[in-house]
Amino acid sequence: MGTLRVTVWGENLHEQREAIVQAHYPRGMHATIAEGIEEHLGQRAHVRTATFEQPQHGLSEEVLAETDVLTWWGHIAHAGVDDTVVERIRERVLLGMGLIVLHSGHGSKIFGRLMGTTCMLRWRDAGERELVWNVAPGHPITRGLPEVFAIPEQEMYGEFFDIPQPDELIFISSFTGGEVFRSGCAFRRGQGRIFYFSPGHETYPVYHHPAVRRVIANAVDWAAQPGLAPYSTFGKALKSPTGWYAP
Ligand code: ZN
Repeated sequence: MGTLRVTVWGENLHEQREAIVQAHYPRGMHATIAEGIEEHLGQRAHVRTATFEQPQHGLSEEVLAETDVLTWWGHIAHAGVDDTVVERIRERVLLGMGLIVLHSGHGSKIFGRLMGTTCMLRWRDAGERELVWNVAPGHPITRGLPEVFAIPEQEMYGEFFDIPQPDELIFISSFTGGEVFRSGCAFRRGQGRIFYFSPGHETYPVYHHPAVRRVIANAVDWAAQPGLAPYSTFGKALKSPTGWYAP
């Protein structure tokens, strides 16, 4: 099995503007997310990072062509993400690149375009305890995880979450305030695998949480299809009257 080529995309703007975010993530959230993936996948993965302020947001055609799985954390700059780059990512996903969308990435252009709905939700930032319930035991994304784990402080994300019905529901979260949320949702679009995972507000150290790191690494592993040869033939069929395998 070949190396999994992972690109961790981080908007990296809160980190430069807010002391609390810098305190939790001195090298940026993307660096911490990348470390968590390396911690679990080790030599099997080659992980690099890209950020909003780089040319083409660090996601040139070359970078995406060498990416088996892209992870996405964005928030305040959703609208500023170049449509050309968004379309480039969408095309790569349809041809088999994995996409892991984290937390406020629910509002990103790329997630909205792949889902086709608003992807909006209910939220409250009050440092509440989140319980993440595993509702897909046996699924590769829940490997090594307990039935439930707690994140001591989180932003509440609650239903209704305006997404299409997930192909697989992996986690449901509940919060101190009583709300519930489909916090881990798997989708397929074209030949690509997509996973949305909601824990990860920037003012809490969520990406240092061992179980959260495990989920993200498992999801990268699940979404990766290294060596996949995209195969799609569209348009007028050229099949001969005697069949596909006719000489
Ligand atoms: Zn948030």
